[in-house]
Parts: sequence; structure tokens; C-alpha cells
Amino acid sequence: MVVDKAEDLEKFMEGVVARNPGETEFHQAVHEVAMDIIPYIADKPLYKDLRILERMTEPDRVISFRVVWEDDKGELRVNRGFRVQQNNAIGPYKGGIRFHPSVNQSVLKFLAFEQVFKNSLTGLPMGGGKGGANFDPKGRSDREVMRFCQSFMTQLHRYIGPDTDVPAGDIGVGSREVGYLFGQYKRLVNRFEGVLTGKALEFGGSHVRTEATGYGAVYMMEGMLAHHGEHIEGRNCLISGSGNVATYCAEKLIAMGGKVLTLSDSSGMIVAKDGLTQDQVEWIKDLKTRRRGRISEAAKEFGFKYHKGKKPWAIPGELVFPCATQNEIDGEEARLLVKNGARAVCEGANMPATPEAIAVFGAAKSLLHAPAKAANAGGVAVSGLEMSQNSLRLQWTEAEVDARLREIVKSIHDECVEFGTRKGNHVDYFKGANIAGFTKVADAMLAYGVM
Ligand code: NDP
Repeated sequence: MVVDKAEDLEKFMEGVVARNPGETEFHQAVHEVAMDIIPYIADKPLYKDLRILERMTEPDRVISFRVVWEDDKGELRVNRGFRVQQNNAIGPYKGGIRFHPSVNQSVLKFLAFEQVFKNSLTGLPMGGGKGGANFDPKGRSDREVMRFCQSFMTQLHRYIGPDTDVPAGDIGVGSREVGYLFGQYKRLVNRFEGVLTGKALEFGGSHVRTEATGYGAVYMMEGMLAHHGEHIEGRNCLISGSGNVATYCAEKLIAMGGKVLTLSDSSGMIVAKDGLTQDQVEWIKDLKTRRRGRISEAAKEFGFKYHKGKKPWAIPGELVFPCATQNEIDGEEARLLVKNGARAVCEGANMPATPEAIAVFGAAKSLLHAPAKAANAGGVAVSGLEMSQNSLRLQWTEAEVDARLREIVKSIHDECVEFGTRKGNHVDYFKGANIAGFTKVADAMLAYGVM
């Protein structure tokens, strides 16, 4: 299929859907990119005739494997593991590992596809990939998680390496899991090398990696507001999730004078009407990472309102940070946010807004909306810096890494402005990020010839 005109989006998507039946999350992610890229390449025969976009939608390979492990009762459990190696045109495959019961091939293909554009935007030499398993670490003992991670890595290790594919964490994969995964890799290959990022500082990790995605989302918000002559200080902020991205996003917002009203988990949300304090965020971090508790416990501890089964989107707030999971804001919720005075949405999570929600935000005249591939790229950017430090066998200081992170997010913001500015200083951050991310990968693919 050759894409002849901008109107061929529908035909292009028919091909994607036919080749990837039932993979609805993947279709959604490709559609969101194709909407901007197809008109962009309409008068660029090199990209169009050589089917660069179509080639980018086809992963280099998808690996799927059985993961067998023993629970604490001595019973055998069977899960499915995956690694999607999407595109390595500009560097080794790079992208996180997700452990969550909802993981399947469609979810990982959407994440890997998005990762290609995101990694390109950082300006660092990283291709895109993603992996994971339909394993739920919730309620599992440390030993069970360890046995699962070891079995997972026993399969995965033959497909990854510091110059081939460098995984990291994602939902359900934090520093505990990265430790178990790295330990098993090292044992299997008998080499100490930078094959995973998000490692602890003692064994090759980078300062600011844990904080980077949440901090980066706030730096992106800062950039968007500054571009329009505004700032974060004194503004009401809504955050969903209470994991890695959400808590470090809250921490940086508080440091910049923002008022963080909400956090959530998959059971419900808390509302802190006077805004969370840094001490309260520290308590929640400990609750979620060490004690592995529920956000409702923070409501009991600090007297916040707890809303069981609810998301933060009905609470009036100006700066909105979805930091939990995909499709967590639907059209109805987006309308409510706009009605309640949302000024900007910055996507900490990957693909958190449904297509209808994106359209609602797009139609709201003055609302600024940064897509995940730009807004949460800080995490993978510092992962890229961790890879550089591992190659150099050096560890940069916290201040050095944070300064580089800020610089990278600023340059991502500038790229979005360059490719996404419309009349009247309004920036379409989706279009800007899609085109800027696309061109570098596309040019590398052209240079390699037909493959
Ligand atoms: P964590 O596992 O640390 O936290 C995830 C949070 O989201 C938890 O509060 C979890 O609640 C909640 N959540 C997960 N799934 C659902 C669901 N289906 N419905 C409602 N709430 C849910 O993950 P991260 O913070 O690392 O990741 C969050 C998002 O950010 C993901 O989209 C991820 O892909 C993205 N991201 C992460 C990066 C990183 O560096 N960690 C980098 C770039 C993007 P509960 O505890 O109840 O499950």
C-alpha cells in the first residue's frame, strides 16, 4: 500500500488494522501519530514512496516466551513474557519492562511504537522497544517477585545486551525488580555491563533516574507555561497515580510552588484540599515502595478525603498530570476538566487520554496539551545518560544529571514549538512531537537503504 495523499489516513489505518487484528491499543497509538505524519509527508516523496511510516509500524521483531516460577506454597505458576524490539535505526532498542495483569502484545506494541518517537526526541542515540509480562506483583512476597524476575530474565537475557537492547522499569517494575533482573543477567552472562537502566546507585545506576520521569513532566509543564508567559507557582494541580511518576511529579510541583490536590491508585483517590506537603509525599512514597500499601491509608493518616473507585478528573484544577496508565481520561472526563478550568495537561503516563479526550482538549481554545512522548521523555533521557555513564565507567553528580535533564526537556519543548506552532503562537504539541520524533528516525532508515 502506498500512501498517496493526506486523505489516505483511513486507507493507511485499514492496512495497520488488517495486519494487527484485535490490537486496539496499538491501532490507537499508530493513528495518533499517522494523523500528523501523513499530511506532513504528502509532499515528501522520499518518505512517502519508500513507505517509511508503514515500515515504522512493523516491529523489527516481537519475542514472546513462557515464564514458569514457583510461588511460596510450592505451586507452579505460568506467565507470558514479551519483548517488542520496534526500531533500532538510531541506537540500541530502549524501553521499559511492565509487570501488570493487563499486559499483552497490543499494549506492548503501542508502548514500543511510542518509545521510538520519544527516544528520538531526546536527541540521544536510542532506538525503541518495550517488554513485560502479565504478572501481577501486587500481593506477592519479595521472594516470589525474585523468583519471577529470575525466570523472566533467564528467557530474556539471550535477546538483550548493552549495544543491542537495554530495558528499564515501568509499571510494576521498580528498583526492587530491576535489582533482581540485573543480578540474574549478570549471573547468566558472567559480565557486569549496562544492560538495564534504573539500577541502584551502588551497581551502576545514575543519580536522578528514579526522579527523572516525574521531574521531566514538571519541567515540560514549566516550559509550556513559560512559552505563554505563565508559571507553576500558586496553581492547583491534579495528579493521578501514586507510583514512581506520580510521586516525583508531586515532589517537583511542590518545590516549584504548585498546590498538589490529588493522587490515586487503582482503588481510588485522595483529595488534599490545602495541597500535599513534601513530608506527606515522602510518607506516600514509602507506603507505595516499601510497605506496598494502598493510597486510602494516606487518607486515614492525614485526614484527607478518600473517594473509592474514583479518578481525580472531577476535581477543579488548572494543571493536570495523568500519571497512572493508558486511556485513564475519556471524553466525558476531558469535558469536565475543561469546564472546571484546566489550563494545561501534561502526560506523565503513556497514552493516558482516549482519542475523544484528545479531541476535546484540542478543541478547547487555550488549553495546552503535551503528549507523553514529549512530556515523560525525561525518564528515558536519564536512562540514556545512565548508559553513557556505564560506558564511561563514571558516575556524574546529581546536579550534573539534573542540569542535563532540564536541558534535554527544554530542547524537546523547543522542537515541539518548531514543528507544532500554528497561527497566533498556539502550539500543537502533539504535531510538533510527532514530526520532530519522526524525521530523525526516518532519515536514518533512508540512509540504510531498503530493509
Ligand atoms: P508504578 O507502577 O510506579 O505506578 C503506577 C501507578 O498507576 C500506581 O499508582 C497504580 O495503582 C496506578 N495504576 C496502574 N494501572 C492502573 C489502572 N489500570 N487503573 C488505575 N490506576 C492504575 O508505575 P510508573 O509510575 O512507573 O508508571 C506510570 C505511567 O508512567 C505508565 O503509563 C508508564 O508507562 C509511564 N512511564 C513511566 C516511566 C518511568 O520511568 N517509570 C517512564 C515513562 C513513562 P496500583 O498501585 O493500584 O496498581
